[in-house]
This record gives sequence, C-alpha cells and structure tokens, in this order.
Amino acid sequence: MIGILGGTFDPIHYGHLRSALELKELFELEHVRLIPCAQPVHRDSPTATAAQRLEMLQIATENQTDLIVDAQELQRAGGSYTFDTLTALRHDYPKTSLLLFIGSDAFNNFTTWFRWRELFDLAHVVVITRPNAALNPLDDFLKIRLTDDRPILKRELAGRLFFQEITQLAISATAIRALIVTQQNPRFLLPDAVLDYLSHHQLYQR
Ligand code: ATP
Repeated sequence: MIGILGGTFDPIHYGHLRSALELKELFELEHVRLIPCAQPVHRDSPTATAAQRLEMLQIATENQTDLIVDAQELQRAGGSYTFDTLTALRHDYPKTSLLLFIGSDAFNNFTTWFRWRELFDLAHVVVITRPNAALNPLDDFLKIRLTDDRPILKRELAGRLFFQEITQLAISATAIRALIVTQQNPRFLLPDAVLDYLSHHQLYQR
C-alpha cells in the first residue's frame, strides 16, 4: 500500500512530516508520497516558487526513505488535478492499494473536485480528522463506500472511504509565514535545514 499526501508545502513543516510518518506506520504503508501541487486549483497561489517548495521537501525528507517526494504535478503543464495524479500512479503501481489522504477541511468540499467520483476507481480516500471533529453529512455515493474495516484497504486496490483520527500538531504553513513576516523565529515548527533554506533565500520576508 502506498499513501499519497498532496499539498502546497509552502513551506513543509513538522505537522506534515509527523502525520506522514504516523500514517505510514498506522496503515503499514510501503511509503508515503509527498506531492507538491503546481497551481493549486482550490486556493491562492503559493508564495515560494514551485522549485523552492520542491527543494524544501527534498531537504526535509533527505534521510527518510519511506517519505518520497513526487514532483509529477510540477512537471505537468497547467493546474494540478488529483485525478491526473492518481491516474499516473495507478499506471505505475497497477497492483498496489493507493491511499489518498485528505485533511477533513479539504474533504468538506471534496464533491467539487474534478471527476471526484472517479477518484474512487483509482484509490481509497482516507480523511484525516482531529479527534471528535464534526463532519458534514455524506451523500449516498460516499456513504456506500464508507468502511471502518482497515484490512479491506489492503485487500481491495481502491474504492473505499475511511476516516482516520490522528493527533495533528497545531502547526500551519500560514502561521510560519506570518512569524517570518513579523520577524519572529519559527524554529522547532519545521526542520532546521528548511529554516536555513528560508533564511538563505530570504523567503516569506516582507
Ligand atoms: P497553509 O497554512 O498554507 O494552508 P498547510 O500548513 O495547511 O498550509 P498544506 O500544504 O496546505 O499545508 O497541507 C498539505 C496537507 O497536509 C493537507 O492535507 C493538510 O490537511 C495537511 N496538514 C497541514 N498541516 C497539518 C498538520 N499540522 N498536521 C497534520 N496535517 C497537516
């Protein structure tokens, strides 16, 4: 089984890294792929360039072989669609379960995503929730895919919806950028090597 965690990663931080590792262990995954988006479809443009966000991901995961940086969305022209990404991964891994991890915030508008129903032909969808989080009611298409049977995610290659609680660290890229703009120190929220990169490239400064 392979996990997929997409995001802007502007910049990558310990919230991303900790949850990727926890999910890898929880679902006994071969690896988790961290996939930076080029042109986010559902949000404003990132502050760092695509090349910089990619470089920071590579720096942050350098000694962690079970976290793989996948630059495919940066190499494709145009917007980043999960449908295209999963299609490419399904082609590369025809016989492996794919687990698409989605934060519960993003999942709340999941049914507006490009070809969202077809994503279930390609992967399972695992929604990452905070303990006791309130969730929007599911429509029937999603309801029939819902399972709490973890082993089924391995037996079947795609098609299920699973909710997984994890203890998310209260770290966001937005907060890190805000600290830097106001000349405060974001140390211990992200790897030192990434912080050095930010300073060197004077990223997120006013
Ligand atoms: P921003 O503050 O710029 O919106 P972010 O910190 O939320 O960024 P993204 O790159 O948008 O980071 O997130 C990528 C993925 O990581 C999303 O699925 C998001 O839900 C998840 N994520 C972000 N922060 C955390 C965190 N602290 N713990 C666990 N998951 C996180």
